[in-house]
Amino acid sequence: ARKPLMAGNWKMNNTYGEAVVLAQEISNNYNKSWTGKVDVLVCPPYIDLKPAKTVFEFDRTPVEIGAQNVYWEPKGAFTGEISIPMLKEVGCTCSIVGHSERRGYFGETNEEVNRKVRALVDAGMYAIVCVGESLAVRDAGTTEEFVCAQVRAAFAGIDAQEAQRCVVAYEPIWAIGTGRTATPEQAQAVCHAIRQTLAELFGAQVADEMRVLYGGSMNVGNVEMLVAQPDIDGGLIGGASLKADQFIQLVKACL
Ligand code: 13P
Repeated sequence: ARKPLMAGNWKMNNTYGEAVVLAQEISNNYNKSWTGKVDVLVCPPYIDLKPAKTVFEFDRTPVEIGAQNVYWEPKGAFTGEISIPMLKEVGCTCSIVGHSERRGYFGETNEEVNRKVRALVDAGMYAIVCVGESLAVRDAGTTEEFVCAQVRAAFAGIDAQEAQRCVVAYEPIWAIGTGRTATPEQAQAVCHAIRQTLAELFGAQVADEMRVLYGGSMNVGNVEMLVAQPDIDGGLIGGASLKADQFIQLVKACL
């Protein structure tokens, strides 16, 4: 059975000081009895990673930290980029890769997404690979083809063992930050298609172990129905992860 993962993507929110406050609130409300039943992860901006990690470490709260993006080269003249060794040293276990905001606003391609995924798994970390269609693609009726092609591209050249610890997050672009959630049936259908693609790539057993998350306006009102779907193993949460009480409620919905 797959252990659910609830991941907060803070996006470009929270200064260093604000990050300490939010991490502390999450830590204070984390109940140690949840350990082993649900994995909890927060993905703050780069400069908030260390302060957030320090809070969780000090309290011995088992909340993982991850990055929102990463560069594949280990070091060198790449002004403005952040490497995997840098992330590892501050205690990151993973990075989000290919978020639709990175693809849309910063021109990230499937090929770049794949290089990032490969670099992460080579370093023993895992990737949360984001995929998802625009409204135009949904209206054209080609959502599953589009999303599954993104999955294939992201995992090109990756073996089953490496893939197994990675996570796929299905985030329909039209549902992100819009308050418009995919229905549980819509989300389940695409997450199921993603798992079938993973089975084609890595075999049924590995696909059965890999976690597929839903993201896009997940909130306290819709979380239960979404995580109850057989192929949805948790959430990638934007807005609702910025309020500790809401984020904690979403985590509890996975217990
Ligand atoms: P919202 O939960 O704010 O819609 O954001 C979803 C998302 O993009 C998480 O990565």
